[in-house]
Amino acid sequence: MNDTRTDRPLKIAVTIDDFVLWDGIPMPEGTTPTDITRSVAKTLNSYDLTGTYGFSHTYRLENEPEQMEAFEAWAEAGHHLGNHTHQHAPLRWMSDEAFRCDFETAQKYIGHLIDAAPSKYFRYPMDMSSGCERRRGEVEKYISDLGYSTAPITSWFSDFAFIMPYFRATALGDKDLQKQVRDLHVSVAVDMLYKHADTAHALFGVDAPLIWLVHGTAICRDTLAPIFDAFLERGVEFISLDEAMKHPVNFSKPPCDESFTNQLQRFALAAGLPKPELEVEQLAEILNLAPIPDLDTITTYEESMLKPLAMRVGAEYDWDWS
Ligand SMILES: [Zn+2]
Repeated sequence: MNDTRTDRPLKIAVTIDDFVLWDGIPMPEGTTPTDITRSVAKTLNSYDLTGTYGFSHTYRLENEPEQMEAFEAWAEAGHHLGNHTHQHAPLRWMSDEAFRCDFETAQKYIGHLIDAAPSKYFRYPMDMSSGCERRRGEVEKYISDLGYSTAPITSWFSDFAFIMPYFRATALGDKDLQKQVRDLHVSVAVDMLYKHADTAHALFGVDAPLIWLVHGTAICRDTLAPIFDAFLERGVEFISLDEAMKHPVNFSKPPCDESFTNQLQRFALAAGLPKPELEVEQLAEILNLAPIPDLDTITTYEESMLKPLAMRVGAEYDWDWS
């Protein structure tokens, strides 16, 4: 692996998304969203990260009301919830009215838990705030009138790419392969944090506090502690989301861009800098780990999650992974 990062102290706010995983994406047998949520919540607490914000869509509660347990377990462990919409569709796939309705549906399910948090945060699904400043502005006005601020993502590591490989390695019962996927998850998390930090430094002239994302998945449950240990070894300091939100990298808005990018990547694109992301070869290596016929990573995402989602919200499917 090309490792050119400069280890140095950084401040990051940890956020956990979609601990009730997206409809259509399989989870290891015998594993439930509530088990994972409890475990992730406990790991956070053991690193003094009580009060971490979680952003999980609420769509699965329609057909699986028992998944409410996961949201409750998160709050009971001392963590906070934000609104991440109900169906988890990119803003561009929905009309203004449908988007507001979706936001309000999420409120109906978990609004009582969101209200218990000290600050009310909203996060766009996939951090995608539409390619149009006018639409984004209307959403921002709407949520602001309801007392919300948008919590963007300013550091991620494509952890979505590991979910299917870990599922497959677990289904195969191959312990070595499971460890290989876990080890890669940890090393990529570290590399990508510093890649984002380097980009933020180039943009702002200082190490900006970043809002870091990992999804609440089976592999997150099994690697969160080693990821945190690796961060701490390099001098990372964990800060609250409220604290991180004081910096313009997080509270200001880059020009809109329709691509599958996080907020820091959009700042980079606007400034003519390369966006921090995994090398294509490494992403391909991860996606293809532990192959099982008919359980291809991208095919599963497209056929079982994204296309049904687009159909449900009445949008034309137009996803671009690049
Ligand atoms: Zn999400």
